[in-house]
Amino acid sequence: MVNVEAYQKLKGELEAKGVSLVAVSKIKPPSDIKALYDLGQRDFGENYVQELVDKQGQLPGDIRWHFIGHLQSNKVKYIAPFVHLIHGIDSEKLLREVSKQAVKANRRIDVLLQVHIAQEETKFGFDKNELEQMLKSFQTAALPGIRVRGLMGMASFSENEQQVREELRSLSDLFNKHKSQLADFDTLSMGMSGDYELAIAEGSNLVRIGSLLFGRRN
Ligand SMILES: *Cc1c(COP(=O)(O)O)cnc(C)c1O
Repeated sequence: MVNVEAYQKLKGELEAKGVSLVAVSKIKPPSDIKALYDLGQRDFGENYVQELVDKQGQLPGDIRWHFIGHLQSNKVKYIAPFVHLIHGIDSEKLLREVSKQAVKANRRIDVLLQVHIAQEETKFGFDKNELEQMLKSFQTAALPGIRVRGLMGMASFSENEQQVREELRSLSDLFNKHKSQLADFDTLSMGMSGDYELAIAEGSNLVRIGSLLFGRRN
């Protein structure tokens, strides 16, 4: 079930601040996606390749599909023909594979590099030093199939607001540092249902929101 009131309120807030919304529809049925689509939402985020491919086949062709989960290199080929933005690039190997599959599909795919900002051990992503290395080598590497549009990260799931804020800020600082060095580097994807307000205050321009719109996931 979609929370229409929450969606409209959120849309208003985000539009006033110039922040984009990816509605995170993982595990939710296509009917929920269609309900938000009918209210005007076009950007949706999914975490699992098979689920994304299934839904993409059933839903309107003008939806912009964001892949926000952990992507395995051997599955890139299934989403390369249509994916709009891949948020979770966390290795150079994956970046190369996305470029290769994009070229095969006659496309250029926009990607974000995922940075590990949380103190939790389980989150994927580059650490800060690896990111610096990546961005340096990237400028010389020939990867015609991709365009690096910015950074993505997830803060800790924590009640400690100060900690969450510091983690978000560390990503924002990295983003700002590299923004002027790379062409088209304009997207900072951070903020979920629980921390999107903090994330926007720290400079996010794209939030990924699921449970606030679609209810809790089982
Ligand atoms: C599930 C998920 C979200 C949305 O989380 P909510 O707390 O439901 O808003 C955002 N980003 C990523 C990477 C996710 O996996």
